[in-house]
This record gives sequence, structure tokens and C-alpha cells, in this order.
Amino acid sequence: MKNMQILVVGGGIGGLTSAIALCRAGHTVEVIERDPNWSVYGVGIIQQGNVIRAMTELGLIDDYIGAGFGFDRVQVYIPTGQCVADIPTPRLVDGYPSNVGIGRPALHKVLGDRAKGAGAQIRLGVTVDTLVDDGEGVSVTFSDGSTGRYDLVIGADGLYSQTRETIFPDAPKPEFTGQSVWRYNFKRTPDVVGLQAYEGPTGIGLVPLSDELMYMYVTTPEPGNPWYAKEDLASTMRSKIANIPSPAIKALVDQITQDHEVVYKPLEWILLEGPWHKGRVVLLGDAVHATTPHLGQGAGMAIEDALVLAAELARADSIEPALTAYRNRRFERCRYIVESSRAICFGQIGKGPLVDNAHATRDMFMKVAEPI
Ligand SMILES: Cc1cc2nc3c(=O)[nH]c(=O)nc-3n(C[C@H](O)[C@H](O)[C@H](O)COP(=O)(O)OP(=O)(O)OC[C@H]3O[C@@H](n4cnc5c(N)ncnc54)[C@H](O)[C@@H]3O)c2cc1C
Repeated sequence: MKNMQILVVGGGIGGLTSAIALCRAGHTVEVIERDPNWSVYGVGIIQQGNVIRAMTELGLIDDYIGAGFGFDRVQVYIPTGQCVADIPTPRLVDGYPSNVGIGRPALHKVLGDRAKGAGAQIRLGVTVDTLVDDGEGVSVTFSDGSTGRYDLVIGADGLYSQTRETIFPDAPKPEFTGQSVWRYNFKRTPDVVGLQAYEGPTGIGLVPLSDELMYMYVTTPEPGNPWYAKEDLASTMRSKIANIPSPAIKALVDQITQDHEVVYKPLEWILLEGPWHKGRVVLLGDAVHATTPHLGQGAGMAIEDALVLAAELARADSIEPALTAYRNRRFERCRYIVESSRAICFGQIGKGPLVDNAHATRDMFMKVAEPI
């Protein structure tokens, strides 16, 4: 199928990569984003070889690599600061690293610029009021009173997807795991040239984002999902890692001073076991398979979804087989990421058997190296 009118609901990582892939395939794409400021919080994410391969396919690899920090090893530490595993990670694209740490704002800029450059129309501060799929197309009324008619609507609107609620009101809701994550940016220290992951009930990671910047994540058990006052976030984050003996972590604790720069997030997950589409409305990314970040693959899965969806639309003559094939190609891989990540999480907080992180990470690298 070619020359379709496509609406993408959500201007996040999955929505923007969909817009880029679909514009490149010759479709007319409109993206609506609920947030009028299109803001992204300031910490970063880790992405692996499969994302580097996907960015190459999307034609933006050099911009992407230039905006982040590439590396080829993952090191696992115990809380004393002793390195217990140093895992070389496989390169999937010649001449490019096997992992990238990248600031979320930097990634957002690369993807937003590319989506606009590819021809996507992006409207901010807009959401969907009503969706009516009559089989021939989808009529949409927007929150700003405008209307549109589309061949396909993609719900890339994240964990609490309104599109999912609309087409699958009985779908399971996101579930809190019992663990949360605290994140903070620092000036990069020279020794942090790849992911340094500390094992233990309090998991810690240091991730380079650029020559100047790195971030720390800290995962903590948070039974009952407590609420923390914004004005205490820095001192609370400090208290969560105050007892970690590693000299490298100790050297950073006192630099956590700005409450508004602490990004605190309870960790939730969802996996839709059934169909991912209804008629001409399809879901993608966190809207159908939000994972905990223990394998650093949530955004990677959303980006791969975008490529597979565009490929299946190109291959098929009609919507139904394309959307069915898309879900069939994606389900097991996304399930593996959601379930393996959750197993690490549950092991860390005593809700399941302890998972050997180094082993799980090696497995994940092998799995995501497989073609999509
Ligand atoms: C703590 C944490 C750490 C993570 N670390 C990593 C990592 O290291 N590596 C990795 O690959 N992944 C990581 N992830 C996962 C990654 O952030 C997500 O998988 C990814 O952002 C999913 O992209 P998405 O586009 O599906 O959803 P989102 O990024 O949530 O984007 C959804 C967009 O839709 C918009 N929206 C929502 N509702 C509407 C609506 N009704 N109308 C219009 N717009 C709407 C939102 O404002 C948002 O812009 C992490 C996640 C968490 C929680």
C-alpha cells in the first residue's frame, strides 16, 4: 500500500520514528502531540546494536551517533565497587558502536527534526476527541475542534494510551512492579566510558551521554508506591544510596543537590497478549508493550515496531493483513523483553528468584541481534 493518509497519536520515540519511516515510504503523515511544549525530561537512555541498526535503516545514523556517546562494553559491579563482569557487546553495523547513551532531549531533537524534514506535519497541544472507523477510513475529531479523515491511525501514545482505552477498553491496565527509579545527570567522569551497572537490592547504573554528561539511575524497592514531596527529592535520592560503599558512587552522592533535576519514576509494565489493532487503528510502543528498563530496550522495541509496521504496510494490499503481520512479527520479541526485564526487577526486590544480570544481558544482546 502506498500514498495513505496516516495519523500518528503521540510525538514520542515510537510516534516520531513511525512518522519518519512512513514518510520515507511515501505516505502523508500527521502527528499530534498532547503536550503543547513537547517537553522531554532531561536524563538519558541506553540503546543497543538493534537500535543502531534501526537508525541506519531510518537514514539518520550519523545525526544520532553524533548526539550521543557510543561504547562497546557493559561492566557489572558489586556494591563495594569491584567489577565482576566486563561484557564485550556485539556491533551490528560496521563502523558504528554497539551501544549508545543519549540524552532524551538530544534524541528527541534528532527524531523531531528528521520527522519534520521527511514531511510529517506535527501539531502540538492536540489530542483526539473522537475516532470513528467505518471500515473505509477513520474520521477523527480533535481537541482543538478540527477534523480529519485517515486510512490508518497509529496510537503511539505511551503507557497510559488513550487510543488503547478507546479500541480495547477491557485491556489490562499498567501494573506497578514494586520498584522505582531515581535518575540524575552529572558531569561525566573520565572513567565512565560505557555502562557501569551495580548489582544489588539497590541497583545503580552510570551511563555516558556525551563527552560532558553522564547520568546515574538508582532502582529501589518502593512497596506501596509511596509519594515523595518534590522539594525533598534530592535528599531522598541521596539517602537511597548513602550506604553504597563503592568509592565511585560515594564521590557522586553529594552532587545530588537540585530537587527539580531528580527524575523519579515508579516502574510499571503492560503487555497486550491479544490483537494490537482493531480495524484501521493500531497500537505501537509502550501503548502495547511497556517494559521496565532493566535491559534498556523499551524505546528500542518502539523503534523496531515503527520499521516493521512500515514494512508490512508496504508489503500488503490491504490494512487487515498488514496489521496482523506486524503484530505477529513483533509479539514474541517484545514479550521476551517485557518478561525478562520484569524478572530482573522482581529478583532485585524479592518478588521472584534472583536473576544473574550479566547472563541476562548477554542473552538480550544475542536476542536483539536477530533480524526484526
Ligand atoms: C525509567 C525508565 C527508563 C528507561 N530507560 C530506557 C532505556 O535506557 N532504553 C530504552 O530503550 N528504553 C528505556 N525506557 C523505555 C522508553 O522510555 C519507552 O519504551 C519509550 O519512551 C516508548 O516510546 P513511546 O513512543 O511508545 O511512548 P512515549 O515515549 O511515552 O511517548 C508517548 C507520547 O505520546 C504523547 N501522548 C500521550 N497521550 C496522548 C494523547 N492522548 N494524544 C496525543 N499525544 C499523547 C505523550 O505526551 C508522549 O509524547 C525507559 C523507561 C523508563 C520508565
